[in-house]
Order: sequence, then structure tokens, then C-alpha cells
Amino acid sequence: MSRFKGLPGLEFQPPEAIHSAQARVLAKHVAHCARHSPYYRRLFKEAGVRAADIGLDNLAELPLTTKADFATHNADFLAVPTADIVDIVLSSGTTGTPTRVMYTERDLQRLAYNEEISFTACGLTPADTALLTCTMDRCFIAGLAYFLGIRAVGAAAIRNGHGTLASHAGIIASIRPTVLVGVPSFLRKLAVYLNEHGANAARTSVRKLVCIGEPVRGADMAPLKLGADLRALWGADVHSTYASSECITSFCECTAQQGGHLHPDLAILEILDARGRPVPAGTPGEIVLTPLGIEGMPLLRFKTDDIGFIVPGPPCSCGRTSPRLGPILGRQRQMMKVRGTTLYPQAVFIALDEIPNAGDYYLEIRTDGDLSDDLIIHLGAHAQQPPVAWIREQLQARLRIAPTIVVEPEEDVKRRVYTPESRKPVRVLDRRNAP
Ligand SMILES: [Zn+2]
Repeated sequence: MSRFKGLPGLEFQPPEAIHSAQARVLAKHVAHCARHSPYYRRLFKEAGVRAADIGLDNLAELPLTTKADFATHNADFLAVPTADIVDIVLSSGTTGTPTRVMYTERDLQRLAYNEEISFTACGLTPADTALLTCTMDRCFIAGLAYFLGIRAVGAAAIRNGHGTLASHAGIIASIRPTVLVGVPSFLRKLAVYLNEHGANAARTSVRKLVCIGEPVRGADMAPLKLGADLRALWGADVHSTYASSECITSFCECTAQQGGHLHPDLAILEILDARGRPVPAGTPGEIVLTPLGIEGMPLLRFKTDDIGFIVPGPPCSCGRTSPRLGPILGRQRQMMKVRGTTLYPQAVFIALDEIPNAGDYYLEIRTDGDLSDDLIIHLGAHAQQPPVAWIREQLQARLRIAPTIVVEPEEDVKRRVYTPESRKPVRVLDRRNAP
């Protein structure tokens, strides 16, 4: 088995050079899928397409692969003998049933390379020490991916994972990391904890935050309150990353912090509307990825369910010519049409997070019977919470719709949001398909 070799520096090349390099890598990838993946072998046969005829210019002729396809035919995506698998990750998928994503040694080398060039782009060097606040275990990939990337850069990793706030604070004081990697709302909590316990987060050794899982920027690329809070509390640069565990591919903001760069030797990025047609830069649509060079479970045109857009305008000031992915705006399957306005739950979360002293919350989405959705915000009663009418006005200004707000005891709301069955807070109760 050969070691994985990327094409370092390709993202700085002119578009023609990128195009021809991608065409070569794609041809190999498509051939591997057609030859070794039972799922794609069948798909090519049913579509009456020869793998050798598929290239960059007609990739869109291939059918899309959905998360449901991946979950339903999971074993058929495996394109190597099971003896070649070295790591197995579980992705929660759309149904809640965990789906296996299986990696070969070469896939992990590819992942390390992906994170290495991402971390290098955001300014990490071998002199850095990075504190990882995301877990390496529990069948997640993110923690492992970041660890591999930090090693590949030659920086030092401190794997404290889901340690307590006190343990992270102790490490920051004693080992003096320069970089924190984690979920932004947790990094905000950590800064507040430091400030309340006699340390000043802005005066620590930390100079860079690499954020995963939650957006820190809005659709206009300006920092959201969360991003601005992080910058102010830590006095550090805030970089956001986007990754898909099925695609084993991530995008990370460079030092210009204007969207996550596509690494063109690792993936082909499409942004499609609800009918599967490409949308222009700046227009939101579903992120569809063809991760290149995956051996274990290769994918073609994978629908991530995430809504994003390509940052419009001239190439990035860092010199990379590759497209940049803006912040994730929501999930395709959670899209709402409320009185003619397209809206994602995430936009409502962001608006609610900007209300001072607002209680915990979850959203209920119902069909109002006329191809339109009804949005009900269940808001926990919280001390010093502003009047509901004022909250509704604020939300209307941000969202362009006036949602129904129901105030309930906060413990009732929390009981629904933080359930033992889910590893993330559950803030969306989608009743649209309920009988
Ligand atoms: Zn850049």
C-alpha cells in the first residue's frame, strides 16, 4: 500500500493548473469507486455510465449520494477488504441510527495531510502548543483529525478532550498553550470561567482559537455575537472550520479569516439548490462534496445536508486561489418556509443568543396546512428576561417573521433540550411529518 501524497501548494496555483490536477485525481477516484465499491459499481451500471467517461466537466451527470443512501447501504460503500480498516467512526446520520465510516491507514494519512495544510493556513507552526478540548474517543473523528494534523505540523498537542473547565484552566496556566481547538460556545464558557477564577483569559498564552461545530460568522461574514465575544474575551484570532465525517474532509479559515479554503487536491465542492442545480457564488445552497483519494469508503457527489455558500469576490488575500466556503447557515432537511420566508432553525438560535438574559429554548415546527410552516419558540422563563413582546420585536427585525413565543418553566425546557439519548442539545422539534 502506498503512502498518501497530496499536492501541497496546489491551492496557490492558477485555476488552469488546479483544473488539470483535479481532473487527474478525480479520474483515479472514479475508477476506484467503479471497480471496488459495490454501491457505486451498481450505480454506474444502473445509470448506464462508464467510469472512464466521467470527468470534471460532466461529474454532475452522476446521481447524488444522500446520507440516507449511505446509511441504508452502509456495507456496500466499503471498497477495501476489512483487513485494511484501521479505524471505525460512527456518524449519527439523519435517522439517528449510527452509520459506520471506516478508514484505512492511507485514509488517516490523507486526513492528517488535510488538517496539516489547514492548520498551516491558519498560522500554526512547530513552535505552537495546542490544547484540544474536543474528545478523541466516543467514535468521533474530529478530535483524532485535529490530533493527527497538529502532529503533522510538528506542533505539540495536549489532549484534554472533555475535561472539566477547572482542568483546562489548570493546563492553560501551567503548560501555556498558544492554540485552543474546540466548540466555540465551550471556549466562551472557558474564558468566562477563567475570568471568574482570578485569571484573565485575554492575558493568557492563547493567541488562536480553532472553532468547530458552531458558526462564529454570519451570512455577511461579519462575526456573530459568539465570534465577537470569543475575540474580546481571549484577545485571540478566531478561525472557523467545517468538516463532514463521511467525506473525511475539512475546510479551515486561513489567516485572512474570510471563509474556509477548499483544498482542491482533496475534494470537489458543489453548492446546489433544492432541485440539484448549481448556484452562483454568494447564493446559499446544499454543500455537495466529492472527497478525492479516499480508499475505505469512497464517495461521489455526497449531499452533506449542510447549507452554505461560496464567498463571492476576488481570490483571498492570502494568495490561495481556491474557493472559500462561508459559514454554515443550517440544515437542508430543517429548512422552513414561514409565511413566504425561507428560514433555518440555526438563524433563530443565533437571533435568540443575542437577546440578553434569554432563557434556554427549543423550536417546534409544524405544518399550517398551506405548504407553509408554523414556528413556535418554547422559551424558558429566566430571571431578568426582557418582556416577550420586546423579544418578538427583536426576532422580527432579525428574521423578518414574527414567531409565536411560548414561555414555560425553564426546567421543563431544559428537560427537553438535554436528553441522555443525544450527545448534542436537541433544539428542534420538527412535527411536520408527524401524523
Ligand atoms: Zn486565504
